[in-house]
Amino acid sequence: TGINFEKYDDIPVESSGSNVPDPISNFEEADLEPLLRENIKLSGYTVPTPVQKWSISMGRAGRDMMACAQTGSGKTGGFLFPILNESFRTGPAEIPAGEGRQSYRSRKAYPIALILSPTRELTSQIYEEARKFCYRSWVRPCVVYGGADIGQQLRQVERGCDLLVATPGRLVDLIERSRISLRNIRYLVLDEADRMLDMGFEPQIRRIVEGEDMPGVNERQTLMFSATFPKDIQMLAQDFLRDYIFLTVGRVGS
Ligand code: ADP
Ligand code: MG
Repeated sequence: TGINFEKYDDIPVESSGSNVPDPISNFEEADLEPLLRENIKLSGYTVPTPVQKWSISMGRAGRDMMACAQTGSGKTGGFLFPILNESFRTGPAEIPAGEGRQSYRSRKAYPIALILSPTRELTSQIYEEARKFCYRSWVRPCVVYGGADIGQQLRQVERGCDLLVATPGRLVDLIERSRISLRNIRYLVLDEADRMLDMGFEPQIRRIVEGEDMPGVNERQTLMFSATFPKDIQMLAQDFLRDYIFLTVGRVGS
């Protein structure tokens, strides 16, 4: 499974959009935050995949992105690296005054990054990757998904939640219970967006992204990933992204 890591540079990437920044060429010259660089090393990654090369530069430029890339192309690092690189640089202090990372009294969490993903399995995988890359940093990752005991997830969220990986249905539930506020979100990711729509999650996704809690397109950075780019995904991209850069990595169906 996955791509042949020695052949990264053979994978064609097409980009379109206005003022497209250049991709980074490798981890060493990318001027990554030292802690992220260290954690990437610890995880055994030596060479960034094409989608990672591009997304790190998108993160730095603060640009929205829609990436069509196949399974195994390294999309998880593709969104975690830009989010963590910028978060480690800016630190938690950027959060609006008066809003703690965590409000103990209301037991409500105020994550700065939200990653939506379709299934329990995928959210868990992303969470495990996030734990590695957040190691020894101020960013505390959390995961919530449906079909599992919500009590244990609530207790985890209560202990601190800066980067939340969630399935759309369970997140709506937590928002309705006032246990999560999205008002501090700076980074929003829709991973496997085509699969989320195939599973019927569009109403929940729209409730989350278009809810009044969620900062608007000008106040957040949004990254969307999908294996395919059919009409319904194009419409989500139009509604959720601002002046976005479109990437096609490898051969992708539509
Ligand atoms: P996708 O989400 O596109 O299917 P993943 O992010 O899950 O891909 O990555 C697929 C596999 O490749 C995972 O096991 C991951 O740990 C590994 N991987 C991703 N990026 C790199 C890299 N830069 N170097 C080495 N291994 C990587
Ligand atoms: Mg993935």
